[in-house]
Amino acid sequence: MPFQETMTPRERVMNALSGKPVDRTPVSNPTNVATVELMDMMDAPFPEACRDPELAARLAATGYTELGFDSIMPYFTIIQESSALGCEMQWEEKDNWPTVRMSNPVWKGLDDIRVPTGFLNHRDNVAITGSLRMLKQEFGDEVAIIGKTMGPWTLAYHVFGVEHFLLMTVDDPDATMLCLHKLKEISVLFGEAQIEAGADALTFPDHATGDLVSGEYYERFLLELHQEMVERLKVPLILHICGNTLDRMDYIARTGMAAFHFDSKNDPQQAMDIVDGRIALVGNINNPETLYARGPEEVRQEVYRCLDAGVNLIAPECAIPLATKLENLLEIPKAVRDWTHEHAA
Ligand SMILES: [Zn+2]
Repeated sequence: MPFQETMTPRERVMNALSGKPVDRTPVSNPTNVATVELMDMMDAPFPEACRDPELAARLAATGYTELGFDSIMPYFTIIQESSALGCEMQWEEKDNWPTVRMSNPVWKGLDDIRVPTGFLNHRDNVAITGSLRMLKQEFGDEVAIIGKTMGPWTLAYHVFGVEHFLLMTVDDPDATMLCLHKLKEISVLFGEAQIEAGADALTFPDHATGDLVSGEYYERFLLELHQEMVERLKVPLILHICGNTLDRMDYIARTGMAAFHFDSKNDPQQAMDIVDGRIALVGNINNPETLYARGPEEVRQEVYRCLDAGVNLIAPECAIPLATKLENLLEIPKAVRDWTHEHAA
């Protein structure tokens, strides 16, 4: 009997996020899968596609219509709220990510933190809520529509500068904690606006990354705060942290979040063993080597490795390089189907 799909992509993703059975493992993108090729195809280039709801929706939809993934994500970057908070921006061109200019941070400390009037109506936030609304209307019955709200740790990098903020965590942990609690209200505000706009789930990037901070830091500064986010944002949350995170995965499994989007620096089997069913894992196909520089055969091997380990949703490890070849992305859902066929037989 050949394997038959019996669920819509949306059911598949939502079930996987809540630990329920699926007809096959979903292919989902908690971060970005847009490429320059897709921008050209849809006439929706960066940076305009990051700043205009219609262009964002058009480009994001290709994740489903062209790539065959089970979810759609119109928030391509990590800087939308930071732009709305007044950070100095470098918008770049089609082939490059927009970034926050860290050399001239907008805030210095706790007392500066405030939400500007009209924050949710800023064009770079409306690009997200507006596109979510459009995508929900056009694809909401069949595809999971995923939004994204930045966690306080990531916001702190943007508004204070990475170096300044990391020094603050050493010099004055109490003030750091107060800053994070104030910044988390921005995460909640923008997250709720996206839920209201129709997001089925939210990615929650909070870049306490393996290369910059320790697992002990994660427990001290973020674990409880992330648990609070689960209470307050009433859709499944997908935590995203890059780098080697095995040393904090046990804590991450205690957050109550629906899923953790993990990096290829972590062995899938080891990661699955640590979380032990307490949180779903999403990932972790390598970007710079496999998806960007190699071919479909290598992509397939990594997909199989994740599926063999029981990874709950298959995805690139993080936002893909904008010059990633389409054939490599198309190979991901293909490989998932083939693996499922082989294991159903
Ligand atoms: Zn990342």
